Amino acid sequence: MNVRQLVLSIVAALALGTGACSKEPGASAKPEQQSAASEAKGHAPKEVKPGSHEDWCDEHQVPESQCTRCSPELVPAFKATGDWCAEHGVPESQCLKCNPNLKIVRPTKES
Ligand SMILES: [Zn+2]
Ligand SMILES: [Zn+2]
Repeated sequence: MNVRQLVLSIVAALALGTGACSKEPGASAKPEQQSAASEAKGHAPKEVKPGSHEDWCDEHQVPESQCTRCSPELVPAFKATGDWCAEHGVPESQCLKCNPNLKIVRPTKES
């Protein structure tokens, strides 16, 4: 197995893992309670939908699903795509030290 296949299998496993739980029928009944609970902790729950308002790491100010500091298992996937700052140990696309003008904006809440 080469590196690219390994990364693809990791990404696929993550996608399956996050996609499976987020579409339960009752999920839309109490969205405000759910988000309030996750925001209080500062980290999104693992089953949150990637790219959604809830998918946010308050501690590191990046999407939780892309937060390599909370989820070190994501690092190989970023390295494989060349999106990695070895000097600062974060994805280049999230490196505020190399890109001071970078602004990672939290997605707005869906109604
Ligand atoms: Zn984080
Ligand atoms: Zn950097």
